Amino acid sequence: MTAVVRSVVRSFKAKYWKEAAAFVRLGGHAVYWESPARARLVVPAPERNDDWTDLGIWSIFDLGLERWTVRKDGKFPGLATVRVPDDALHIVKRRAERDSVHPKATLKVSYDCLACGACCRDNEVVLDEDDMKRFRDAGRAELLKKPWSKRKDGKVILTLKDNGRCHHLRRDNKCKIYDVRPAACSVFPVASECCIAAREYELEVFDGLAPEEWPWPE
Ligand code: SF4
Ligand code: SF4
Repeated sequence: MTAVVRSVVRSFKAKYWKEAAAFVRLGGHAVYWESPARARLVVPAPERNDDWTDLGIWSIFDLGLERWTVRKDGKFPGLATVRVPDDALHIVKRRAERDSVHPKATLKVSYDCLACGACCRDNEVVLDEDDMKRFRDAGRAELLKKPWSKRKDGKVILTLKDNGRCHHLRRDNKCKIYDVRPAACSVFPVASECCIAAREYELEVFDGLAPEEWPWPE
C-alpha cells in the first residue's frame, strides 16, 4: 500500500474567486467557472516544471495540457492556472462531483499498486533512450524487440494486447519487467488525477462519489 495525501477538487462559481484561491492555498484544486461554459483549473504552483511527484502537474496533464501560467497579480497570484479545454470540461466536472463527499482541501488515501494495474491498460508508454539502455544493461535485449512499435512521430511505444492490457502486465496485475520498467511507468504517481481516472475507467473503483452517468461522454 502506498499512502498519499491528494488534493480534493471543488467547483467555484465566478463570484467566489477568493474562496477558490483560499481552497487552493490549503492544498486543494479549484475548478473556477468564469462562465457556465468556460472554466479554469487552479492548482498550487509547482516548485519545478519537471517535478513528476507534483499532483498539480498531473492534474493538468490529465486534461491533455503541458503548460500553465503563474501570475503575480489578478485573482490567483502565485497559483498555477490553465484554461480547461472545452472537450475536457466533463473531466473537471467529474472530479468535482467525485470529491463532493470529501469536506477538506486534501485527503489521505492508500492505494495498492501491486494489486491494481489500472494504469497498465489502455495507455501509451513512450520508451526513451534511457529505457533502451536500461534494458541492455540489465541483459534484457529481448525487450528492445516486440512488444513495442513506432508512432507516426517516430517515438517508440509499448504496444497493448487486444484487450488493452500492456504485454508486460501479468494476470495477477503485477509488472513482469518491474525492475527495468520504463521511466514513464516508474514516475507515474499514485493518487494523481491520471491514476484516479484509470482506476475509475478500468476498474470502476471510485475515490468518492460514483458517476451519475456511465460511461462518461466522449
Ligand atoms: S492506477 Fe494508480 S494505484 Fe493503480 S497501479 Fe497505477 S499508480 Fe498504482
Ligand atoms: S511496463 Fe509494466 S508498469 Fe509499464 S505499463 Fe507495462 S505492465 Fe505497467
